[in-house]
Amino acid sequence: MAKKQIHLNDIKRMAQHQYYCEECGKHLFDSDKDGGAAGAEAQQKGFVFKMPILFGIEGCHFFCSKDCWNKWLNSHTTEQERADGNRSAREIRQRMEADKPKLIEGLQRIQRAFEIARNRRKK
Ligand SMILES: [Zn+2]
Repeated sequence: MAKKQIHLNDIKRMAQHQYYCEECGKHLFDSDKDGGAAGAEAQQKGFVFKMPILFGIEGCHFFCSKDCWNKWLNSHTTEQERADGNRSAREIRQRMEADKPKLIEGLQRIQRAFEIARNRRKK
């Protein structure tokens, strides 16, 4: 019996993920990526990608628009959960803002270390 040939196109098709808006069901795009990489692709294409862990929801979620995302969030969370989630998001943003000078200093230090290493190699 002849072995079934697997063509490159079959492999490509198997690796394809189809992404739909989780609220209205509209087909958004196909991609061989998943998780955060697919999220970045969705955002590039103008769609909404969310990992609503702050609202107590795990995983990656895709939406065609902000409207759909808000509708979906409203139907999957309570008012209290949304208030808590928004407060956490605000706190994280503030903390990141406060840490920014430290972050920039760290990056500059790394850059200097690279330059020193590069100059050393030239000699
Ligand atoms: Zn939608």
